[in-house]
Amino acid sequence: MSQEAQIVTRIAPSPTGMMHIGTARTGLFNWLFARRHGGKFLLRIEDTDRDRSTAQATQAILDGMAWLALDHDGEAVSQFERAPRHREVAEQMLADGTAYKCFSTQDEIAAFRDAARANGDSTLFLSPWRDTPVADHPDAPYVIRLRAPRDGTTVIADQVQGDVTIQNATLDDMILLRSDGTPTYMHAVVVDDHDMGITHVIRGDDHLNNAARQIQIYNAMGWPQPVWAHIPLIHGEDGKKLSKRHGATGVMEYAEMGIPAAAMRNYLARLGWSHGDDELFTDAQARDWFDLEGIGKSPARLDMKKLANVTGWHIARTDDADLVSQITDFLALTDQPALSQTQQKGLEAAMYCLKERAKNLPDILDKARFVLENRPLTLDEKAVTSLDPVSRGILFELTAQLQNASWSRDTLEGVLNTTADSHGLKFGKLAGPLRAALSGRTVSPSVFDMMLVLGRTETLARLTDAASLDT
Ligand code: GLU
Repeated sequence: MSQEAQIVTRIAPSPTGMMHIGTARTGLFNWLFARRHGGKFLLRIEDTDRDRSTAQATQAILDGMAWLALDHDGEAVSQFERAPRHREVAEQMLADGTAYKCFSTQDEIAAFRDAARANGDSTLFLSPWRDTPVADHPDAPYVIRLRAPRDGTTVIADQVQGDVTIQNATLDDMILLRSDGTPTYMHAVVVDDHDMGITHVIRGDDHLNNAARQIQIYNAMGWPQPVWAHIPLIHGEDGKKLSKRHGATGVMEYAEMGIPAAAMRNYLARLGWSHGDDELFTDAQARDWFDLEGIGKSPARLDMKKLANVTGWHIARTDDADLVSQITDFLALTDQPALSQTQQKGLEAAMYCLKERAKNLPDILDKARFVLENRPLTLDEKAVTSLDPVSRGILFELTAQLQNASWSRDTLEGVLNTTADSHGLKFGKLAGPLRAALSGRTVSPSVFDMMLVLGRTETLARLTDAASLDT
């Protein structure tokens, strides 16, 4: 691909709190688009607003990106640090005549608006300084305003929304540089996107109106516009704007729920984008398929049931060792005790029977208790109830049968069925006490799986423990 044709996307979050799932989704879309086309995906921290930007919030963005494995190319750019360049461009525009100095004070503008409101006129402020000759300028503080076109329209040729036409008469001459020399957000975004070589701006449609103003800056500078794609925002299950009451809105809250990052990527990709009827897909597929045409025009809805399905599918097809390592990370993230080497080994050996129906990582840990806990097991109340004297007798008998049995699923099934038969019991009646003895609980993986995972010595020891319980 030639240098000119290289696609460059970016995520440009404002570091003012946790990383919202909308930001994560925007990041994912930009990342998928860049990766699909062998392009670049850049990160710019929009920290120009010094009162609201915090180092913690910047870290939260980096953590969220790292968790989702949305790797960006090059160093993260700080918008604040680029202020001198923003000033330089504003001054260039002044020199070119595409911007002008405006000496109107805040009070004057407020008074104009009050009067306009009182008269029922438009409150759009049209600066009297737009056409004042430089020779008549006072020696007073000023802002730099864009000399925006007054007539005609600005058209946002949006890949998602179609052509969006804004009447220029509805836009004022926006401020580019404040009187203290700091750039406005609108100006900084355009200068940065231009300098960073951004070819595609893919972002939430809450920025659609900004695009019209930003296009005017591109035009004033004679810079080529990027391709625009404004994605509808994420809504809650009830179709209303997403808020806390719909569920988790911070991306790391999902990590803390034990949703694997691959599942979250799949789920987020489907929040607003589709590829035919495909709901479940791998990263590689998403990278092959992602396109702007697949982005829908209506807001996606957060759906926790769907997320659970997506998560289950990903967990079931993830490699056992990989799941152990994800669980290790999950425990660290949620400040839970780490697993010992032995526990990790046990977990990996058991994983084949834990991951099938798990909906998240804590589900796996819950079912893994039989392999993570050491003897003597602490039995829960229900498990104790199933170990009545008769059952204990049968378990005792079973230990003898299992001493020399070969440790395979077939043989174990044979031994257990014969023992149940000889007591006139259905297999289920035997499975209860056995499950209690092996796991200390009434819900666990199948008794065969537990026996196979635990091995003969541990199985027999647990049966003996249970058989000799004094209940
Ligand atoms: N900083 C903006 C935000 O966090 C994004 C700006 C943009 O993508 O152009 O919403």
